[in-house]
Amino acid sequence: MPILRVALDVPLHRLFDYRCDEASPADVGYRVRVPFGRRDKVGVIVAVAESSDWPGDQIKPAHAILRDLPPLGADFFALCEFVSGYYQSPLGETILQALPAGLKRPLPPARRNARRPKAPPAQAQPELTPEQSAAVEAVAAETGFQPWLLYGVTGSGKTEVYLRLIERVLAGGGQALVLVPEINLTPQLEARVRGRFPGAEVVTLHSDLAEAARERNWRAAQAGAAIVLGTRLAVFAPLPRLGLIVVDEEHDSSFKQQDGIRYSARDVAVFRASLLSIPIVLGSATPAMETWANGLSRRYRRLSLEQRAHAAARLPAIGVLDTRRQAVREGVSEGLLAAIKTRLERGEQSLIFLNRRGYAPVLACAACGWVSRCRRCAANLVVHLADRRLRCHHCGFETQVPKACPTCGNQDIHPFGRGTQRLEAWLGEQFPAARILRVDRDAVKSRSQWEAVLARIHGGDADILVGTQMLAKGHDFPRLTLVGVLGADAALFAADWRAPERLFAQLMQVAGRAGRADLPGEVLIQTQYPDHPLYGALVRHDYPGYAETLLAERRQAGFPPYAYQAVLRAEAGEMVPAIDFLATARALPVAVAQREVTLFDPVPMRLSRLANRERGQLLVEAVSRRALQAFLPHWREAIERIRVPAGLRWHLEVDPLEF
Ligand code: ADP
Ligand code: ZN
Ligand code: ZN
Repeated sequence: MPILRVALDVPLHRLFDYRCDEASPADVGYRVRVPFGRRDKVGVIVAVAESSDWPGDQIKPAHAILRDLPPLGADFFALCEFVSGYYQSPLGETILQALPAGLKRPLPPARRNARRPKAPPAQAQPELTPEQSAAVEAVAAETGFQPWLLYGVTGSGKTEVYLRLIERVLAGGGQALVLVPEINLTPQLEARVRGRFPGAEVVTLHSDLAEAARERNWRAAQAGAAIVLGTRLAVFAPLPRLGLIVVDEEHDSSFKQQDGIRYSARDVAVFRASLLSIPIVLGSATPAMETWANGLSRRYRRLSLEQRAHAAARLPAIGVLDTRRQAVREGVSEGLLAAIKTRLERGEQSLIFLNRRGYAPVLACAACGWVSRCRRCAANLVVHLADRRLRCHHCGFETQVPKACPTCGNQDIHPFGRGTQRLEAWLGEQFPAARILRVDRDAVKSRSQWEAVLARIHGGDADILVGTQMLAKGHDFPRLTLVGVLGADAALFAADWRAPERLFAQLMQVAGRAGRADLPGEVLIQTQYPDHPLYGALVRHDYPGYAETLLAERRQAGFPPYAYQAVLRAEAGEMVPAIDFLATARALPVAVAQREVTLFDPVPMRLSRLANRERGQLLVEAVSRRALQAFLPHWREAIERIRVPAGLRWHLEVDPLEF
């Protein structure tokens, strides 16, 4: 009797065998409903075999093969096998996480009808700039697998390049996959894609979609939808005629999944392109150091757009305000205040960027030294004065703002430091006639709120925007001529060695909001370190120069991209068992015996306690990817045999971005 090898969503590195009389090899790639433990599960048929290695009486019959969808193809399995091998994730979990929830349920939900978005009016194509033409022609001239790094300053028209390349692929009957970091923040991109290809089927795939919509769009992709626009999970979408992948803002860390299977959608996308022998375009104004290094080594070919696309739009003038040399009130320097005032007088918009939401990062008592700590995390509770709450930004714990110090009863307790709410309130006092709009995750929680905020900004209905990185993402704000940056210095000396890279990217991006149309823009960065090389490079708009500095430092220090890392993390109710487990993993014979990989000492994580769990980690490093990849499977198998105390959980992350 035929045996089905089935991938199931369980944390084990094996497949499961089931009997099925009516199965044939043509059933590979279909879903199948099977008994598992005391329940039923839906899995995916990976192979149909003649016999099983398991004794016949242990093999249960499958309930039913589900043939309502076309079978998943060989390229889908090859992609999942790569991810499973590279990230050390079980193949079953890897395959099943790629499917929308509705397709994994033993009982299908009642189906509602699809609501198709109306096609917007078609948009005319602008004539390409010479740089854009050169980029499009270079990509079009190649066949087969080639990663392209499209390095283009903000406003240089990278999107137009993507659109032309997509157009070519569609003309040849192919499909295009466009990955973006956060789809809700960039409705303009979706609108532009739909507007350019009004006759084509464009579907989105991201985790904020309602379950039914996500399943519908996934099915549409498999059925041949022309363009799939999605976040990282879309990298697994079944696309039978995929001809091009675009990764926009490729440096953005949200392409890295932070739980479950910790894959980098950008890196998986590059692998997928190589598997299919198709081009992939990675676009950014501030590429990740890994990507830039790949450009320098010619593994990726680089295309540059150094001019803004609108003839009139120049890059904004970037300057620093030395806060040691001028009066500063409530964190705002005299110079910045004067610049805002000028904009108000001219009827132009200003944006004040402070990447910290809430009123103040902590509440403190000067009499006894009490500070508002989260009782579940190694972190402070943030003051939210708008609704008088203290909130933990890590675990979500919240409580009332106390009227007096909980330890000494002192009634004179103060918010310490400042966030966007405090800045908004203070600017309101300084400029009572100005319309101030705060834009952060507290003020804008849904896509419809976000669209309303964008409409207000575009309609000239706000004079001063106070916002976090939400506002930094790619938007054209034509009346915005001033960007002020507060609180940037903290990242210069952060313990996280990637912090300066992220700061540079963030400031470049937020600077890119100023002066998009015919009004010249100005960016003023407040700092106590005006001579820091990061600010120097920003003032010169010199990403390549700063990248060179950073890469030299990384090479010197032996950090990525000149080293390859993985991290083993453990969490438990107490720190001791977590660290003990890591120490045991480090002392395993496979770890001790190997020569090419360095295992560091187990240490508590930077956020050592999260939601009442103590967390430790062990960094693993190698000078080549090959050496690291050769080591990890053996080590992981040995770790899986360690007997762990109840309540301890661990995972392995490859290419971690955060520690
Ligand atoms: P980027 O993604 O590189 O920041 P965009 O693709 O958003 O830049 O382009 C910036 C602006 O320039 C947009 O308003 C876009 O419509 C416009 N644009 C792009 N290419 C051209 C072109 N060739 N001619 C005129 N305008 C263009
Ligand atoms: Zn006190
Ligand atoms: Zn907490």
